[in-house]
Amino acid sequence: MGSRRSFIRKSLLGAIAAGIGSRFGYAESIFENSLMTDPDVIRPTVISTWFHGLEANEAAWKIMQNGGAALDAVEKGVNVSEADPTVNSVGYGGLPDASGHVTLDACIMGPDGNAGSVAYLQHILHPVSVARLVMDKTPHVMISGDGALKFALDNGFKKTNLLTPEARKAWKNWKKSGSPYAPGANWENHDTIGLLAIDHKGNLAGACTTSGMAFKHPGRIGDSPIIGAGLFVDNKVGAATATGEGEAVMKTLGCFLVVEFMRNGMSPQKACEAAVARLLETIHIHENLQVGYVAVNKAGETGAFSLKPGFQYALFQDNENKLLDAPYLME
Ligand code: ASP
Repeated sequence: MGSRRSFIRKSLLGAIAAGIGSRFGYAESIFENSLMTDPDVIRPTVISTWFHGLEANEAAWKIMQNGGAALDAVEKGVNVSEADPTVNSVGYGGLPDASGHVTLDACIMGPDGNAGSVAYLQHILHPVSVARLVMDKTPHVMISGDGALKFALDNGFKKTNLLTPEARKAWKNWKKSGSPYAPGANWENHDTIGLLAIDHKGNLAGACTTSGMAFKHPGRIGDSPIIGAGLFVDNKVGAATATGEGEAVMKTLGCFLVVEFMRNGMSPQKACEAAVARLLETIHIHENLQVGYVAVNKAGETGAFSLKPGFQYALFQDNENKLLDAPYLME
């Protein structure tokens, strides 16, 4: 414990702990900040993970600018990354599992608290749109594997080969290298896309989609399709999404935690910090562990924080789309 804590950015952790002490459990009101005292304030916002979030934000913003709903915006936004062969951690072009298969996890959540999700889905270009249909057309939240593929095909989705020559080559090289089994997050600085939006009516929605960790164990499912882990939306409070090592996010139910911290009075920034700090309290922090959260509250205030350096996020607000470096906890 002592050595682990020695490289934590101590002052930051202290500040986070103080925030938890004074607020969590003793919150007077979720309307603590000034913007939230005015129910008429609506600040359209799109926030998403990583560099590829910039393009996804553009697509989402465009929909909302034309009067579209946050729920449509988040789906269409992340569809951009799903179809982009240069994004090797989402959809088409995603790096395969250890046996060479591209398997996808995705989920979506709307302002009415409804949610849909698919896990271990193969051959479908837009898994998040299948998740949307699970939400809209079935009484279920999550469908996986062959059942999810059948559901997609039954609903008009077409089978697509998602393994690009580049991804296949990377997999072959990985196999040849005889690397020990060590799937990594933060791969080439772009991973899962999680995207959150507030539309012109003030409604919140979120979506998250990924091919998961490169060369993961066949059958492995990460945090991204798990409601409350990779994504959570509460239209009264705010929303959060995660990237990084899904196992760590799942063990702490990270995004639900971020939203609950906001419900108890924290700003989105403090809530992301507290959820990252929670990792230190509850799980083993191995050398390569990375987790990052982004969050937005009902008032359009945003936050982002990661365990280690390197996490970037894209924020579209007030007609400006920016790529930002998230602050982090450990050197
Ligand atoms: N969270 C994703 C997973 O564990 C991967 C990532 O975002 O890097 O599958």
